[in-house]
Amino acid sequence: MPTTAPILHVAVPSPLYRTFDYLAPAGVEPPAPGSRVLVPFGRKRVVGVVLGSASHSDIDGSRLKRVLEVLDPRPLLDPELLALAQWAARYYQHPIGEALAAALPVLLRHPGGGTLSRQWWRATAAGLATDPAALGHAVRQAAVLAQLRRHPGGLPRDAIEAPMTVLRTLQDKGWIEACAPAPDAVREPGAAYGEAVPALGDAQRAAVEAVREADGRFAALLLEGVTGSGKTEVYLRAIEPVVRSGRQVLVLVPEIGLTPQLVRRFGRRLDLEPALLHSGLSDSERLLAWQQAASGERRLVIGTRSAIFTPLASPGLIVVDEEHDASLKQQEGFRYSARDLAVWRARQLGVPVVLGSATPSLESLYNVELGRYRHLRLPERAGRAALPRLRLLDVRRQPMQDLLSEPLLVRMQDHLARGGQVLVFLNRRGFSPVLLCHDCGWVADCPRCDAHMTLHRARGLLRCHHCGHQRRIDTHCPACGGSELVAVGQGTERLEAALAERFPDQRVLRIDRDTTRRKGSLQQALDSARSGRAHILLGTQMLAKGHHFPGVSLVAILDADQGLFGSDFRASERMAQLIVQVAGRAGRGDRPGEVLIQTHQPDHPLLRQLVEQGYDAFARAALEERRAARLPPFSSLALLRAEAPDADAPAAFLEQAAQRAAALASPGVQLWGPVPAPMERRGGRYRAQLLLQATRRADLQALLTRLLPQLETEKTARRVRWSIDVDPADTL
Ligand code: ADP
Ligand code: ZN
Ligand code: ZN
Repeated sequence: MPTTAPILHVAVPSPLYRTFDYLAPAGVEPPAPGSRVLVPFGRKRVVGVVLGSASHSDIDGSRLKRVLEVLDPRPLLDPELLALAQWAARYYQHPIGEALAAALPVLLRHPGGGTLSRQWWRATAAGLATDPAALGHAVRQAAVLAQLRRHPGGLPRDAIEAPMTVLRTLQDKGWIEACAPAPDAVREPGAAYGEAVPALGDAQRAAVEAVREADGRFAALLLEGVTGSGKTEVYLRAIEPVVRSGRQVLVLVPEIGLTPQLVRRFGRRLDLEPALLHSGLSDSERLLAWQQAASGERRLVIGTRSAIFTPLASPGLIVVDEEHDASLKQQEGFRYSARDLAVWRARQLGVPVVLGSATPSLESLYNVELGRYRHLRLPERAGRAALPRLRLLDVRRQPMQDLLSEPLLVRMQDHLARGGQVLVFLNRRGFSPVLLCHDCGWVADCPRCDAHMTLHRARGLLRCHHCGHQRRIDTHCPACGGSELVAVGQGTERLEAALAERFPDQRVLRIDRDTTRRKGSLQQALDSARSGRAHILLGTQMLAKGHHFPGVSLVAILDADQGLFGSDFRASERMAQLIVQVAGRAGRGDRPGEVLIQTHQPDHPLLRQLVEQGYDAFARAALEERRAARLPPFSSLALLRAEAPDADAPAAFLEQAAQRAAALASPGVQLWGPVPAPMERRGGRYRAQLLLQATRRADLQALLTRLLPQLETEKTARRVRWSIDVDPADTL
């Protein structure tokens, strides 16, 4: 039956793999693709995004519902961003409605939440000079002042979460004032910088030239620079002409919380306030940053993975820092890789994209080999600093005290005596990973996971690091009543105590997720690490990421062997990256650096290669292993996961899925499994997985596109939660 009004194809947040048809509102111009509309959906009204229109629908006209309201007079999402989201939804096999919802700020997913007030507030000079901590118990005032100090250009009223009385009080004190919305002021070339600008080294200059030369067209450049080689300096020089010409630059970083230095450095050097997009923002702050990027008001947009979906009015360049970092891949829901989307988006936009790392992913190195990416290299450290020497410390048969071998303690003593800082790396937090009964052998296990509980002694807790379950430490063994419970193994909390006892005159500073929970505490810890106030820094991989601690002369990696026995095919790549990144914290200032890696496997070929020949040689060998085993990047993987409280349901569902996949008869796609997940029970749910592998990506895509809609109707699917992960970061 022909319908009179045009039909709109609308993406609605729903787990179904399709769009829904609605009648356009009567009497008005139908909304263009990219506009949000309010539509009836089941018994609810939801916000959807128009993707297209048609004059006919396959659905009977009498059953079609009408759009209730057009929320955007002009499309909110431009065709470019819409294309990105649609491509990502197809490639990562995620329902388009949910993919678009994930790309939008929360406030735009609801009707009526999309406008911010034009009334703005900012800190006055007196307010900027005031430490919010001085406000003592007036916590709400302190929070507002702290927030406005972070945004010297001011914020709209709605982005400040405090009642008007609080703002008035601060105004009366002369610390904040109302102001007009502030556009980004870019100073003209030649304006004074807030920071000294170093003269570039030859390799840096060549890299900057290569990026500048690619201006105005698509090019993917892999910037491989050893730790401390001045990659950030290259980004800054490449970004500068782009923002000065009035265009925008999008910079993706793994975790903003861990790199406040980087953000400050960008803003200061380029003399503009960046729009920041990360998970620590309130909904209003996120909307504001999103709008400032969309309008072109902010020329520098820095964000974590989801910032890849930020609209840009006049894009000129994309930078992905630490491109190897696993956090660029979303691990739940819409499982996209922000790095890979950045390359796709740059191609669509016709702008260059720079992928930077000291330890590039094997995927990116392979893309260099194929000629898809241009390789830019910074083989030496910038300035006068030299790369540290890496040495394996064979600890077999060595007397060990709390994971510290005698030769290591001697080296620590030596560096400390000469005024150097020591960084001790142990990637396990808590006091000890196991608590057991000396009388009967009982072990404290998580009731919801196939895992031991970690002992957190200072907080008096046993905590599961996989599901968060926690309880008070037992005083007696629940099995035999014995009172001799023994903490087995080392975590950072225990190591901290051991180091404090061993080096009573030195200040020991532990940095891990447990010591940095309070807002601002990470910042404070990093400051004392950088300033040299703390002598021994000890921590987890939080300490590995990009930090510049100029006083650190010795880095000790206590337990490298952990990484050698991972069951995932990427385990050795991750281990090598972590070792090189941690090692890279040594010798960045005036003192030469030394790196000691304790191991019980001093002859392990991968470790030796890494230590003796460096990351490049390691990566080349690892890539050859992947080629021989036909693992990514020499094949494509997708992982179908299922979990349920019922132990049999996941396998039953995956069996059905495997049968259906086989029936779709895709030559070139192999199925592995289903098998139980390596940790089968987690958070009270049993988990299983089916791995799909293909030599040609297109074969896998074709199969998934046909298979997944079938799984929606599969009976066994009702008893499980399932998900598909294309290009999984790990197969665990
Ligand atoms: P990376 O990001 O490669 O680890 P950074 O860009 O943080 O390295 O640079 C490391 C240190 O070297 C920083 O303190 C930076 O200011 C300094 N630096 C960078 N380039 C130069 C240069 N050309 N000359 C002198 N110092 C430099
Ligand atoms: Zn016991
Ligand atoms: Zn658990």
